Amino acid sequence: MDKSITVNGLRFSPYLDREQIAAEVKRVASEIRRDLEGRRPLFICVLTGAFMFAADLIREVGITDSSVAFVRYSSYEGTQTTGEVKQLMGLKEDIEGRDVVIIEDIVDTGLTACKMMEDLGARKPASLRFATLLHKKESSRTGFVPDYVAFTIPSDFIIGYGLDLDGSARNLPDIYVHEDYDN
Ligand code: 5GP
Repeated sequence: MDKSITVNGLRFSPYLDREQIAAEVKRVASEIRRDLEGRRPLFICVLTGAFMFAADLIREVGITDSSVAFVRYSSYEGTQTTGEVKQLMGLKEDIEGRDVVIIEDIVDTGLTACKMMEDLGARKPASLRFATLLHKKESSRTGFVPDYVAFTIPSDFIIGYGLDLDGSARNLPDIYVHEDYDN
């Protein structure tokens, strides 16, 4: 049976289902717990795409004495990166002396990740780590290496589980890949 879907006129095929996602979220959560047990981590969720991953990950990590904050960056239009990273919403919280874990949906070129590491690193956290749901290793323009990765994937265009196509499809519980994506 063809389980492909059409979003805004583009065709997408099933790529990672909710069981696979849950298993890798669990693994990443145990790595974070191992590294930060006994500390008071501050999780910074990068809006909008990481909201679903962050909600699942933070619950799995299960450190009650932790907090959550949000930032918003944007670099994509449609299915392409613009190469220019814009901060749309900054951080009000004081992160000096905190053990910070940034939670992102995808590291693609790595430009957004590098900008965030630079912005947040300048605010003197005790430690700064980076967790991502997806890592498009071959698309890197920066050599940025995340501390925690749920899935390493090729340079395809992905939607679902928080990730959008021009605002749509974030609700999908599974992840889909664009058929015929020409990078
Ligand atoms: P980078 O700065 O690493 O090139 O891009 C990171 C951001 O681009 C991600 O946080 C995400 O918002 C967006 N992005 C990169 N690849 C994809 C993709 O395959 N699908 C979607 N929906 N967004 C993507």
